[in-house]
Amino acid sequence: MPKIWLDGRYYEKEEAKLSVFDHGLLYGDGVFEGIRAYDGRVFRLGLHLDRLYASAHALLLDIPLAPEAMADVVEDCVRVNGLADAYIRLVVTRGYGDLGLDPRKCKRATVICIADSIALWPAEVYARGLTMITAPTSVNQPSGLAPQIKSLNYLAHIMAKFEAINAGADEALMLEPTGEVAEGVGENVFCVKGQALRTPPGYAGILRGVTRDAVMEVAREAGYEVREETLTRYDLYTADEVFLTGTAAEVVGVARLDGRKIGCGQVGPVTKDIMARFGELARRGG
Ligand code: PMP
Repeated sequence: MPKIWLDGRYYEKEEAKLSVFDHGLLYGDGVFEGIRAYDGRVFRLGLHLDRLYASAHALLLDIPLAPEAMADVVEDCVRVNGLADAYIRLVVTRGYGDLGLDPRKCKRATVICIADSIALWPAEVYARGLTMITAPTSVNQPSGLAPQIKSLNYLAHIMAKFEAINAGADEALMLEPTGEVAEGVGENVFCVKGQALRTPPGYAGILRGVTRDAVMEVAREAGYEVREETLTRYDLYTADEVFLTGTAAEVVGVARLDGRKIGCGQVGPVTKDIMARFGELARRGG
């Protein structure tokens, strides 16, 4: 049974409770991270914390712990739960206030750390590749809430996930309002043509994934050409292979998009190679 770290103390799962006046619940006012540990080592914790603190800063949210103390919480939570391989969820909300949305009423942010496990899809889905549809719901516009902020407002992505489920697909591709390719509901997207990998640039409407960076690194080391470029669905439809990357998903191939086969409609050799290389990197400690 996982022990949950909440504002400085561990609680049993059933005892880890928040106020109904917490603005994380009332308004989705907060930030979070999804992090993995492999063989007891937390993968690229520094980069996850950089993103967490940047997201919080963008939302004028003060995290009441220094990044070093937050790193200790994450490491300790994995240890206390006796986990070697873990999925860790860090959540920071604005804290509890009143029913108005004035954030000044929230005197102290709430901090939660959960170390557990996650499996987005069974092994056979990784073997056959995902079926995807393009979601009618697009990612947030940069003129509103920047897509680079990993906030507790995930409703656009949850709607896209519903749209995939309702269409009988495993996952959704989300576009920018302009029609360019953005990302999956919780993953970044890559396409492969020959020995070249392409992914939308960091300034596009995407979350800048930690896994995306790691995959670009291992791919370059392996001699692939890697480019960050604006992509349209044409690029995905005509790619040899498409795959997604994310902390929870890791690396997963795409077999079909919008009913069309991608390449030969199976997980291709480059995707398999990247999956293996990413797996090695993760087990080496990142
Ligand atoms: N895009 C979105 C919207 C996400 O939620 C995630 C998961 N954090 C990603 C991409 C992938 O990011 P990472 O590799 O850091 O998990």
